[in-house]
Order: sequence, then C-alpha cells, then structure tokens
Amino acid sequence: MNPSARAYVPFVSVDAMMGLVHRIGLTQVLTGIADYIQADFLRWPQFDKTPRVAAHSPEGVIELMPTSDGKLYAFKYVNGHPKNMKNGMQTVMAFGLLADVDNGAPVLLTEMTLLTALRTAAMSALAARHLARPDARCMAIIGNGAQCEFQAVAFQAICGIDAVRLYDIDPAATAKAMRNLQGTGLRVTSCNSVEEAVEGADIVTTCTADKANATILTDNHVGAGLHINAVGGDCPGKTELHRDILERAQIFVEYPPQTRIEGEIQQLPEDYPVTELWEVMAGDRTGRRDERAITLFDSVGFAIEDFSALRYIKDQMQAAGIEAQLDLLADPDDPRDLFGMLQRAAPERAA
Ligand code: NAD
Repeated sequence: MNPSARAYVPFVSVDAMMGLVHRIGLTQVLTGIADYIQADFLRWPQFDKTPRVAAHSPEGVIELMPTSDGKLYAFKYVNGHPKNMKNGMQTVMAFGLLADVDNGAPVLLTEMTLLTALRTAAMSALAARHLARPDARCMAIIGNGAQCEFQAVAFQAICGIDAVRLYDIDPAATAKAMRNLQGTGLRVTSCNSVEEAVEGADIVTTCTADKANATILTDNHVGAGLHINAVGGDCPGKTELHRDILERAQIFVEYPPQTRIEGEIQQLPEDYPVTELWEVMAGDRTGRRDERAITLFDSVGFAIEDFSALRYIKDQMQAAGIEAQLDLLADPDDPRDLFGMLQRAAPERAA
C-alpha cells in the first residue's frame, strides 16, 4: 500500500480521552478548559457565530455546532434524546472536529461525549465564578444523570463549592452520584425532594432531561441571592424553570440568537433584556447587581465552548506526545489522481 495515499488525522478515542484526563487530573482539565473558554470569550467578536443547526424529531434532536476564529474551524455533532437512558444509551452523545482554515485540513477528530460533559461543567462553573455570590459554598443539583458529577467537581475546583445536595426523581441516579463523589472532599447529601435539596443552597444547578416544558424549580424555591445554573433546558419545548423565576432574575446567556430559541428565555418575549456573558467577562456589562439579586445562567451550550475544549485537547495531546492517527483523508501523490489511487488499490483489495 502506498503510505502517501493517506493524510492521517490526529484522533482521540474515548479510551484516549479517559487516559488524557487521568494523566492530567480531572480538576486540572476542568480548570484548563475553563481558562481556554474564558480566553476565547474575551475575543468573542473575532468568531463566526450562528445558532446551531437542529434536526428535531418527536423523541429528540440532532445538532451541528460550527464556529471559526479565522484560523481554526470547529464543529460538534451532538444529540439529545432523553428516552435513550431507558434503552441503556446516553441521552447526549457527541464527536467533533478542529480544522485549519488556511487549507481545510482537519487537525483533530475526537470523541466529545466525555468532552461535552467536561466543557459544560467548566462553562457552568466559569459563569458562576462571575455571577454567584463570592461566598457561595453549597450547591443543589437537581437531575443526577451523566452531567451531574462533572458539575459538582467543576464547581468545587472553580468556585470553591464544598457541599452538594442531590435530588433526582430516580433514587438510583442519586445513589450513583453519591458513590461517584466519594473521595472528592465534597460533603454530599442525598435529598428526597427539590424543596429539601435547595434548602440552604447558594447555587442551584438544574440538569434534568425531559422533552417537555417541565417545572423543576418554582418561584418559592428561589430565595434572595441565589445563583441558578439552568443546564437542562436546551431545546424548543424543553425548559426547566417556571416563568416567574425568569421575571425576578438577572438573566445571562451565551449567544442570544440561539438561547432565545432553545433556552429558558424561549418563554419570554423576543426582545426581553438579557446580558451576554462574554460582556461581563470583558468588564463591559455588570454581572450580579448586589448580594440579594437572583442571577440565572440560562445555559444551552454554544459552539465557541466546544471550539475552546477542542483547542485545549489538541494542545494537551501535543504536549503529551500522543500520536493516535486516523486514516480519514484520501491523499494521492498526484492530488488530481484520486481515481488512480482507487484503481491501484484493486489487486490487494480484491484478494
Ligand atoms: P441524563 O439523561 O443522563 O440525566 C438526566 C437526569 O434527570 C436523569 O437521572 C433523570 O432521572 C433526571 N430527571 C428527569 N426529570 C426529572 C425531574 N422532573 N426532577 C428531577 N430529576 C429529573 O442526561 P444528562 O446527560 O445528565 O443531561 C442532562 C440535561 O442537560 C439534558 O437535558 C441535556 O440535554 C442537557 N445538557 C445541556 C448542556 C448545555 O450545555 N447546556 C450540555 C449537555 C447536556
């Protein structure tokens, strides 16, 4: 076989991603991704931005999330199918790619199911570092599925949270999260209701999965000074918060044209005032007004966060000298002789 007939692409399998996270350390990966996201949010105007392209079906959604800073291009393929869990599958599965804008060549192809959980947690904690009260130490997590423990550890590493209070309609999910969070140093409490979970919490993270306008939190759950990290409402017709909460809160979003379609604010008029998080990071807009304000990060997940996570993984792969290569791109010696490359492969392939 002619080796020059391939242009190998650096590839990160699920196994390699797990190896990389263990080699670097989970908290270092979460803080590292948060640093890359912050750096990219600070140069927000340089990016091509578009709401993600979504294909909806009765049970879920499949989405493509592209962006570019003019030097690198990235996209993620991701789904959201809340009923998958019952069939032993992930609700959210993803993979993604980073490419060189100058020649279009992919420079990284990677699993992103784990990476999405890592970047979502890093993004949530980064937003909370800018918006929650600085003395926040206790977080409630409603919905204890795949994202839950990543959120807990990211808030511990990035915001100094030392206690988490867990609730899920399925006690098995809470028991799983309790087991997984042993040894993290977090004080973890299993709760029997949303009311019990939010008691004494400075931050509430909602990360439930249901393709419905659910009401996970109502107004009476929300006391003065709370920061709400609303992660699970990320699709038209899929929300978690009662509208009354939105009307009491200062609302912060990633990219308004996408969040108005997918986030909690789909419940509000199209011109309802919201603040873009990157402007708070840049010091151009005020974050939390005062210690009694209710702040809401209406998270839906935006392409620039995946771009940052992909950039982080590429840099770590290079630093660690990891060399997995995928035979992805046909590259004949004569670029015009693609047909000839196929023809020359016939004898060995027919055997
Ligand atoms: P998952 O299916 O693994 O877990 C969801 C959990 O929510 C389950 O344990 C389920 O029992 C629980 N749940 C459902 N309804 C509930 C209710 N009424 N009260 C309490 N618990 C309830 O899903 P996941 O991978 O953890 O994702 C959670 C949500 O986060 C999904 O909706 C997903 O689409 C969303 N998500 C958002 C982002 C983002 O960037 N904003 C990124 C990833 C995932």
